[in-house]
Amino acid sequence: KLHNMVQELKGNIRVFCRVRPLIPSDMSSSENTRAEIVYPDTLDHKEIVLSSASENAMGQERKDEWQFAFDRVFEPHSSQAEVFEDISQLAQSCTDGYNVCVFAYGQTGSGKSFTMEGGPTEATAGMIPRAVEQVFAVTEELQNKGWEYKMEGQMLEIYNETINDLLGKAEFDKKKHEIKHDKSGRTTVTDVDVVPLTSANQVRSLLSIAQSRRTVASTLMNERSSRSHSVFTLRIMGENRLTGETCEGSLNLVDLAGSERLEKSGAGNDKDRLKETQSINKSLSALGDVIAALGERGEGKGDKHIPYRNSKLTYLLQNSLSGNSKTLMVLNLSPLASHLNESLCSLRFATKVN
Ligand code: ADP
Repeated sequence: KLHNMVQELKGNIRVFCRVRPLIPSDMSSSENTRAEIVYPDTLDHKEIVLSSASENAMGQERKDEWQFAFDRVFEPHSSQAEVFEDISQLAQSCTDGYNVCVFAYGQTGSGKSFTMEGGPTEATAGMIPRAVEQVFAVTEELQNKGWEYKMEGQMLEIYNETINDLLGKAEFDKKKHEIKHDKSGRTTVTDVDVVPLTSANQVRSLLSIAQSRRTVASTLMNERSSRSHSVFTLRIMGENRLTGETCEGSLNLVDLAGSERLEKSGAGNDKDRLKETQSINKSLSALGDVIAALGERGEGKGDKHIPYRNSKLTYLLQNSLSGNSKTLMVLNLSPLASHLNESLCSLRFATKVN
């Protein structure tokens, strides 16, 4: 039985799929079989096929296959540099005044943080440091044409529908932050430390501060980093001293909370955990709804209402998920057979937004 999920791709919304390789900790687990994932041998790398075999009560074998299409599929061997090659153009369009959003979506352990933040070496650096480096390189080039740029950054965490400032002066953020949008389409979050950005290296060290804060919190609070969204925002303001033109854009790079559904019963499913799960479900489905509505609008299906206010995440990114924006979702998948059901849920989510 073939479930064909190939869809037309829309407007300014693109969806990539990336399957991570097997890693040593997969081998030590008891369920170390690889899922049946096939990458059809096409030159454009746009399709993925998952399959599973099962037996029904009558002992008959049944094979299911699901086929999905994306703007681009990255196989387990794809390097960070290869993935970035397909993102760099999009990232640098913030220097032309676009609002750009890149999201990493997937279950915990599927490679979201690896994709976005990456490892410590140059080869393993993720999309955030690469995108920032690219933006700095482009702004330097544009100086010759009279452009001068100012850049600032912030890094927020959204946990249980509350915002925390990961770059705030205080190590533990106790302030209450509110999202404000002004008429010119600029979004501010109250009491957040916005950092002037002067070099790509500086951004690297800011990221590691933010990372260590999430990790500190996670030892206290149940793997918090996988239960919260992190949103890095680079805002860029340019002025051309030869022509007097100005432009303003932003680059939002988002490592989403793990999309896995929790088992309905079992240890560790206390009240706090339930609240976390409800917040995550709510915000991920709100994100899916917003992107799907934008896609429909992009297709010219009328002036559909875009439900930004249904979650903090979509409300925060409202101005970056609208008219003058470009959105990319990277769907991260685990290669393990034991994760096949979660992978299918992720793929269906992507189909909805695609
Ligand atoms: P998530 O953020 O989705 O929870 P991680 O990014 O932490 O997942 O990835 C889980 C593990 O897999 C980490 O040890 C990470 O280094 C490794 N990993 C993920 N993607 C890759 C990849 N493309 N190449 C090598 N290792 C990877």
